Amino acid sequence: MTRKTHQSDALLSAAEGLMPGGVNSPVRAFRSVGGNPPFIASAHGSAMTDVDGNRYIDYVGTWGPAILGHAHPEVVAAVSEAAARGMSFGAPSAAEVDMARAVREYYPSIEMMRMVSSGTEACMSAIRLARGVTGRDGIVKFEGCYHGHADSLLVKAGSGGATFGVPDSAGVPASLAQHTWTLPFNDAEALETLFDAHGDNLSCVIVEPVTGNMGVIPPSPEFLKAMIEVPRKHGALLIFDEVMTGFRVSRGGAQGLFGVEPDLTCLGKVVGGGLPVGVYGGKAEFMRAISPLGPVYQAGTLSGNPLATAAGLKTLEVLARDGVFEAAESAATRLEAGLNRLVSAHSIAAHVRRVGTMLTLFFGDKAPQNFSEVKQCDHERFGEFHRAMLDEGVYLPPSGYEAWFVSAAHTDDDVDQTLVAAEAALTR
Ligand code: PMP
Repeated sequence: MTRKTHQSDALLSAAEGLMPGGVNSPVRAFRSVGGNPPFIASAHGSAMTDVDGNRYIDYVGTWGPAILGHAHPEVVAAVSEAAARGMSFGAPSAAEVDMARAVREYYPSIEMMRMVSSGTEACMSAIRLARGVTGRDGIVKFEGCYHGHADSLLVKAGSGGATFGVPDSAGVPASLAQHTWTLPFNDAEALETLFDAHGDNLSCVIVEPVTGNMGVIPPSPEFLKAMIEVPRKHGALLIFDEVMTGFRVSRGGAQGLFGVEPDLTCLGKVVGGGLPVGVYGGKAEFMRAISPLGPVYQAGTLSGNPLATAAGLKTLEVLARDGVFEAAESAATRLEAGLNRLVSAHSIAAHVRRVGTMLTLFFGDKAPQNFSEVKQCDHERFGEFHRAMLDEGVYLPPSGYEAWFVSAAHTDDDVDQTLVAAEAALTR
């Protein structure tokens, strides 16, 4: 298929003079897969249309939120009605109470919560809270997990086993990065060793309980067990960053899927139904430390604003209906099965990993268990595959380190068309 790109390319040239890389979030610039990004004009259901009129079956789903598909009519109506009543009050409203009740129904471990405006804010605030209630500065994260772009979280492991972290971005003070310890995902022993040595100064473990930001990797049973037991044994909190997995690996996220209760949970993406929303919350004994009840400060001009709340609430309401989550999961299962068939029919060294409505196709000899194994995958090949799929009318995340997101709007037909495209792309 020849794809028209004239208008997108012209917009990119203009955008590059105005915004770094021409984009408002780096991955959108397509640097890791090559080629130019299409500029999107509209999105409905499972598909997006760009400014040149090309239509794509979409597996980015605005990086997760679009679990009902794009522009779900009930969500659009709820937002329009809310907008007509006022865009933002900066004062409490009834919808926030409904929204908080809905979140707690999905996530019973979230006894109390705060709404914020992004996943970054949710994670940043949860960490401040963990530090505030424990009086300790250290935090523990895992390599390849992303928790937003707050300073303490843009940190990678220093060289060697249990070393202090080093900044992963210019502009992050080394003195701050020192408080962040980074361990390999799926390594229970490393977690135990770190806590045995430094447990007295560690406030929390923050983790994507099923990773999405290095592609989909589930935790091993031993790792899951260590996550739950080790921090608490040492008086530290366990924070599940379910910004991506929330409402996606199951309706109740990873905690629902695995039947475990973290101390604090961060949500984003789906919970905002496509508008800027994050939520952090958990045990009331910890949440009571948040201002105005307690000494940990956190605030937001647009937090819980009526538009975002209306979009989120309606999304959660629709998702609770019988068959809605199941439709998304069954489309994801069909895609997984089809990709597996293609990979084995054409003897391609690749592995599909899926949990719920998130999946990743890794090009490599084995299914990766952690970030260093993901790095060893053939990302060049993923780039070629990505460009070929785009030409075939399928919009995949523009990086081999990402999850693909399937929605309730993806039909069997969409998936089958995707598989026809994938066969062409894989055998090109
Ligand atoms: N945590 C996770 C697991 C995420 O996937 C993301 C965003 N991809 C964030 C936090 C940050 O969310 P936001 O981009 O809304 O700030």
